[in-house]
Amino acid sequence: MATFVIAGAGLAGAKAAQALREEGFDGEIVLIGAEAERPYERPPLSKDYLQGRSEREKIYVHPPQWYADNDVDLRLGRRVTRIELGHHLVRLSDGSRQPYDKLLLATGAVPRRLPGPGYYLRTVEDSDALKERFATGAKVLIVGASWIGLETAAAARTAGCEVTVVEPEPTALNRVLGPELGDLFARLHARKGVHLRFGTAAAEITQTGVRLSSGERLTADLVVVGIGAAPEIWLARDAGLDVGHGILTDAALRTSHPDVFAAGDVAEHFHPVYGRRVRVEHWANALHGGPAAARSMLGQDVTHDPIPYFYTDQYELGMEFSGDVEGYDEVVYRGDPDKLEFIAYWLRGGRVVAGMNVNTWDVVDEIQALIRSGAVVDQKELPTG
Ligand SMILES: Cc1cc2nc3c(=O)[nH]c(=O)nc-3n(C[C@H](O)[C@H](O)[C@H](O)COP(=O)(O)OP(=O)(O)OC[C@H]3O[C@@H](n4cnc5c(N)ncnc54)[C@H](O)[C@@H]3O)c2cc1C
Repeated sequence: MATFVIAGAGLAGAKAAQALREEGFDGEIVLIGAEAERPYERPPLSKDYLQGRSEREKIYVHPPQWYADNDVDLRLGRRVTRIELGHHLVRLSDGSRQPYDKLLLATGAVPRRLPGPGYYLRTVEDSDALKERFATGAKVLIVGASWIGLETAAAARTAGCEVTVVEPEPTALNRVLGPELGDLFARLHARKGVHLRFGTAAAEITQTGVRLSSGERLTADLVVVGIGAAPEIWLARDAGLDVGHGILTDAALRTSHPDVFAAGDVAEHFHPVYGRRVRVEHWANALHGGPAAARSMLGQDVTHDPIPYFYTDQYELGMEFSGDVEGYDEVVYRGDPDKLEFIAYWLRGGRVVAGMNVNTWDVVDEIQALIRSGAVVDQKELPTG
């Protein structure tokens, strides 16, 4: 009987296990997770769960009995510490060895850190700890005006905290959206009373707040750091697999070893639409990448090529974003950005490279089809939602 081992019990790992069973795999599935919790989804941790508006049970990928019902050997609270490619086995932090026929690496990413005592937001424990502090009406300082920083700012503000965000870029989300739409998010937070300090880098977290690279000190009761995440590639690198920013794979999520696969945040996969490798740290990529890797492990013909997709909720703004703005030369709007009900299209040479629908729904498929087609568009014909 074949044994498939999955290292990393997050969304990608859990969805891979589910897909293996759905595809009829009747061998052994071992799902190994470093956290004590069974697989759960992270987006609520900085949104409704952090705001106390959703129950804990809702974050989990499967109910507890699903693993036994589907004969998935879920081993939590231990990590894979080493891969021995030549022997087809992994070593675990509990001292055990686990042989495999096929191995999936779905080890995700960990927050980048700053020196000093700060809060980070990756796990459900992190979210619980912040929720508790926000409830006390603390003075909160957030380092980083990207998705996690801004969602955390919205949650802290909604809880009644005084909130300051520091960010070295000239505006919010500058590198992911560019200044036009980045400013829209900055203005939204400013209207809600968040103090925004752009062009300002935090050098160190201190007992009383942060020390900025300018030497200036800002005081706060707690500092939350949201400056990006680093993929957990060291297992793969130490085993001699090819790595770049993530674990390098082809479009079928196969690594440089034929029996080892990678999916989710940790994978840097070849994307046929972009003609290069991409690493996507988004929920949808884990949701679909886990199953794609599972099918690939079963020898099926797989191409994992979704258009990158992300969503956020901040105050009354809900939006979905598709694509990649890199190299755009124009932003075109449909609807009314001032009313927070519109679609923004990023164009490069007349072709749509990204789209964002704000409080406008059921248009993602159309936007993604435009991006995928790579066709020069007539701007007047762009969908309005
Ligand atoms: C607070 C927060 C909010 C987010 N919000 C959004 C959002 O709104 N929209 C969106 O698209 N994306 C969002 N994301 C990103 C999204 O959650 C990730 O892309 C997704 O979780 C990736 O899933 P994954 O399974 O690849 O990795 P992970 O979820 O990181 O899971 C990997 C698991 O592997 C474990 N692990 C690591 N190393 C080992 C090892 N050696 N052995 C065993 N286990 C190991 C880790 O502990 C972890 O539990 C958010 C992320 C965070 C943190």
